[in-house]
Amino acid sequence: MRPEAAAEFEVVNPATEEVIGVVPVAPAAFASEAIAAAQAGFGVWAATDVEARARMLERLAQAMEDHRSQLSELTSAEIGTPVKDAATGQVDLPVRVLRSYADIARKYPWDTRDAAGSAVVREGAGVVVAITPWNFPVHQIIAKLAPALVAGCSVVLKPAELTPLNALFLAALCESIGLPPGVFNVVTGKGSVVGEALLQSDGYEVVSFTGSLQVGRHVGEVAGSKVARAALELGGKSPAVVLDDADLTTAVQTTVRNCFVNAGQKCNAPTRLLVPRARLDEAVEIAGEVAGSYVVGDPSDPATTMGPVASAAQRDVVTGFLDRARSDGARVVTGGETQQWERGYFLTPAIVTDVSRSAEIAREEVFGPVLVVMAHDGEEDAVALANDSDYGLSAEVWSGDPGRAARLARRIKAGQVRVNGVRTPELPVSPFGGYKRSGIGRELGELGLDEFVEIKAILGDPFVGEE
Ligand code: NAD
Repeated sequence: MRPEAAAEFEVVNPATEEVIGVVPVAPAAFASEAIAAAQAGFGVWAATDVEARARMLERLAQAMEDHRSQLSELTSAEIGTPVKDAATGQVDLPVRVLRSYADIARKYPWDTRDAAGSAVVREGAGVVVAITPWNFPVHQIIAKLAPALVAGCSVVLKPAELTPLNALFLAALCESIGLPPGVFNVVTGKGSVVGEALLQSDGYEVVSFTGSLQVGRHVGEVAGSKVARAALELGGKSPAVVLDDADLTTAVQTTVRNCFVNAGQKCNAPTRLLVPRARLDEAVEIAGEVAGSYVVGDPSDPATTMGPVASAAQRDVVTGFLDRARSDGARVVTGGETQQWERGYFLTPAIVTDVSRSAEIAREEVFGPVLVVMAHDGEEDAVALANDSDYGLSAEVWSGDPGRAARLARRIKAGQVRVNGVRTPELPVSPFGGYKRSGIGRELGELGLDEFVEIKAILGDPFVGEE
């Protein structure tokens, strides 16, 4: 970031409400400069070979590991997630993603032949505009940066207003490991100003956006008008379907814990727990017990299991949803309380039931620690209910019969379905992304790399390199 930005904004710790940093507010005029810097960076970076790019990713992974405590404490202070979760989610996971892309790059079909003998060459598409949200800030940056860099692209990143410090920290690490200037550029400021100016710029080929449906629609429209590619990772209202032969206790306990990771600010959180009608009361009771067992408080305390939500505005969004649900006739079994804290944007995790299928709380993304428990009337009804959503980011299925679970998973309209509580594997290479209004395109793994790659067919290519 150039130092002469006209204004600055404060980054606030959501647990203490203290200012933990000040960053420049880039004016719109910075967008074209950042794109120009990235174009120059692309010229240099695209000319490097794949092995050099893969090694750069490995160096960044090592640098992040070397700064694990610093980066996790910084991220925890920015977003409020317990520091131990920040270490695993915002350092260890992105490190694995970086290393996975170094491996993928070494095996990727960069230069192949089609059935007619023509060369099919894959190369970096050009300058990438990356726009990220605040909830898993480092992971979301690396999920774009790693495949973009290994493809040979350069990047202009506009991180979320709430969480710019980790992005600047990453940029400093990139500089320290020798990434050439102009290859990774960070512009801090308002989405509606410098984010919009980046989108409206000429000179980028890909925009990779993670955030809300509302802004994502707009990003897609602008990119479309420029005939630039847009990869959109948007929201979700993901179901966890529990069949009658599942172990109810395990299914409910695991779903609640998964839903409340990062105080529920997780795009793929299973926020709709769908259980057999005969077992609804039992499921609500188990869910209430798990929710009540959370230790909500100081994210730097190792005993804490849930920190605050990221901002006062986000806390008010969550309590607003709960208030409207109550007046709509829903029962908030436990949670949603804010009054015991004088400082910090804390609220206790909530379990909601007695909701109709058309209720706002059953259909809209809350993006906070709120789980809705609903009844289904058998497998057919469960599939219909799971798919009755504008979103389709992720889903969970639970059954005592693996074959039945696998068949059910195939009927759910979601980009990622997890069977019987399986979690992110050691190497996160499974594609992640949405059906329906949850987005366009995929992140992670080889399919995530495809988003940043352009394809050229060379007809009549004289088989250079194969002789
Ligand atoms: P948001 O859409 O408000 O903001 C996302 C980013 O877009 C921010 O950096 C913001 O500054 C920028 N932005 C806003 N207006 C812009 C404009 N006109 N032009 C360019 N950039 C603009 O989302 P948020 O509140 O930061 O994040 C929460 C949302 O993100 C939730 O809906 C959540 O589901 C979604 N999300 C999705 C995924 C996924 O992978 N599918 C992951 C995490 C979060």
